[in-house]
Amino acid sequence: MVKQFKKYLQTHRYPNFDLRAVLFDMDGVLYDSMPNHACSWQQTMEEFGFKTTKPEEFYLHEGRPGKFTINIIFQRELGRDATDEEIEKVYSRKTELFSQYNSGKIMPGAREVLEMVKSYGLLPVLVTGSGQPSLLGKLDEDFPGIFTPDTMVTAFDVKFGKPHPEPFLIGLKKGGNLQPNQAIVIENAPLGIESAHKAGIFVIAVDTGPLPDSVLKEAGADLVLDSMITLKEKLSDIFSITQSIYNEVNRI
Ligand code: MG
Repeated sequence: MVKQFKKYLQTHRYPNFDLRAVLFDMDGVLYDSMPNHACSWQQTMEEFGFKTTKPEEFYLHEGRPGKFTINIIFQRELGRDATDEEIEKVYSRKTELFSQYNSGKIMPGAREVLEMVKSYGLLPVLVTGSGQPSLLGKLDEDFPGIFTPDTMVTAFDVKFGKPHPEPFLIGLKKGGNLQPNQAIVIENAPLGIESAHKAGIFVIAVDTGPLPDSVLKEAGADLVLDSMITLKEKLSDIFSITQSIYNEVNRI
């Protein structure tokens, strides 16, 4: 793995890592919620009479604010953007269905990863495009003491959303006005990876969905792992790699 970390430093012209925080996406990383999102979107679109969507499409839109996803489908089928009223109707139906279908299942390995991050003295920060009350409200119950409102970026904090770098730039700020080489990002979705990559941060992709690894690499992932359990197993190696590069550069 050392090679990926050194390549990142060369590309971004940083002398080293100086890790302070780990920025976590939520859906598909902390919660196994993507299948529920995909089927809620698909059913909503069918109910509104759209015919070209498939559940898999929504894995590619993951992380995009809901209104932009709706506009992409309106443009494709009707050749126009949705009105504010239509966006409101479609998105509230999707939210309603998601609240019904959402199992709230925690991604295996997620709790342990968060605990390890804390035990290494690093700050966990949440950076999600989600505005779903059914998940955001449960975070503190499911991961007690990990996130506070000061260390969370949600749909309510952003103007552009992923794939724009904005959410992760806000995440760096909330992490303590950090530089990109002071954090790493854990993401599962192409648009989230693109957002973090454009923000200049090292991105570890966990491929927890149906998309091939190549799609995540093309989006800008520096390292692709197959699950949060694998991340848990490799995390101490990852931290020692970044620390030893720091020591090497600073001749400690
Ligand atoms: Mg995600």
